[in-house]
Amino acid sequence: MNPRQPRRVPNYATVVARMDSKYEAIIGLECHCQLLTDSKLFCSCSTRFGEPANMNTCPVCLGLPGALPVLNMTAVHMAVKAGIGLNCKINLQSQWSRKNYFYPDLPKGYQISQYDRPLAEHGFIDIVVNGERKKIGVQRIHMEEDAGKSVHEGFPDSARNTYLDYNRGGVPLIEIVTKPDLRSSEEAFDYLTRLKEILEYLDVNDGNMEEGSLRCDANVSIRLKGAEKFGTRTELKNINSFRFVRKAIDYELDRQAGVLESGGRVVQETRLWNSEEERTVSMRSKEEAHDYRYFPDPDLPLLVLEDNWFQDVRKSMIELPESRRQRFVSAYAMSEYDAGVLTMTRALAEYFDEAARLSGQPKAAANWIMGDLLRFLKDSDVNLKDLSSLPVTPRMLADMIQLVEKGTISGKIAKTVMEEMYRTGKTPDAIVQEKGLIQISNTGELEGIVDSVISQNGDAVAQFRSGKQASLGFLVGQVMKATQGRANPQTVNELLRKRLAG
Ligand SMILES: [Zn+2]
Repeated sequence: MNPRQPRRVPNYATVVARMDSKYEAIIGLECHCQLLTDSKLFCSCSTRFGEPANMNTCPVCLGLPGALPVLNMTAVHMAVKAGIGLNCKINLQSQWSRKNYFYPDLPKGYQISQYDRPLAEHGFIDIVVNGERKKIGVQRIHMEEDAGKSVHEGFPDSARNTYLDYNRGGVPLIEIVTKPDLRSSEEAFDYLTRLKEILEYLDVNDGNMEEGSLRCDANVSIRLKGAEKFGTRTELKNINSFRFVRKAIDYELDRQAGVLESGGRVVQETRLWNSEEERTVSMRSKEEAHDYRYFPDPDLPLLVLEDNWFQDVRKSMIELPESRRQRFVSAYAMSEYDAGVLTMTRALAEYFDEAARLSGQPKAAANWIMGDLLRFLKDSDVNLKDLSSLPVTPRMLADMIQLVEKGTISGKIAKTVMEEMYRTGKTPDAIVQEKGLIQISNTGELEGIVDSVISQNGDAVAQFRSGKQASLGFLVGQVMKATQGRANPQTVNELLRKRLAG
């Protein structure tokens, strides 16, 4: 038993201060990501989540004698895209290996995985923490099948018996292993955020930690500052949200520092994160690779990717979030923050790109999207990952921006038009025609209104004439009011100045 077991996660600043005074945190992450295929990795069973237990099973994924695996190439395609997206070298030859262990949710007694010849290696993800950019190495990406699920709750005899659901058994995963390059929970959080974003952009994973389609284990150790040798690491499992990744790491760093400072020794082990008690608890001593007795799977040939096929996948790659952010910043003189907002999801980034291109006014497009549109989307609870059924298309937004640009409507009226487009799905032209919103720039039409505003606001006129510039703003406002916002403010301004000077 460890001499010290703090119960609660200390806050981030406390952990950073404790680390900074003496230690260095060494963190690596292993993420299991479910590929978004319709069928499993080695059989045609469905991968749909939430189906009745054991409905999506067959002799192959149940590991019945004589059943043979047949590789799902769609899964390989997605895994290769992920590898390219994470800047990895793709191995055109990789190998399936059996990872042997005995557990009820694994009917074959082994998991088909990749071991010494993984699909992809030597990649990286750029992270930015406290304004500092840093590369986090991706050591390897390998493919494997998922195990089934033990069900410990929900049955009258759940207290005594465990039930098994094999629907998930055989679902395709990629495991993405970082180098031990992370130095704080904050860096781990940023890495995960970017990883999730990249996988979502590539349509290979939905990033859903609650449904288990993205799972993350953390390897954590500390060493004295300046020490060369890594300390003994623990592996943290069972962390099912990004927030908990941060907490589990902070808890563990603090726990290990406590162990060392009380003269103890950190034990190499697997620890489970308990999110209710907010602490990690020892589960078992950590397995070594040799415990799994890996060997090449004799049922499956080498996974050989043809160069032509691979080049086609490479060519089909879309622009990834980091590159888009940099492009928005440099091409549109946008702030890093705004570029970050507009690249939150691939759908939003593509929406903006389209509206910017069609309107020729990227700045205006960005402002409309970040202001009004995102507010509407938030109010109506729209998922930013799918904007295909949005009532306001990029074309409509672009047309509206051009109406403002040409002076057909005022910027103020444009807000009304935007709201109306979102509500009705009508084009800006139709809305402007129907509601008679065309801006009044015609001097003759405005002169009468300006004159009556002048005669009705003698005080403001007197104040302006005595040098109070702000009174002009008030008078412009009165004209705008009289025209329901349709007057061209610039024309009104000029008219007023001319009249008041006379
Ligand atoms: Zn099956």
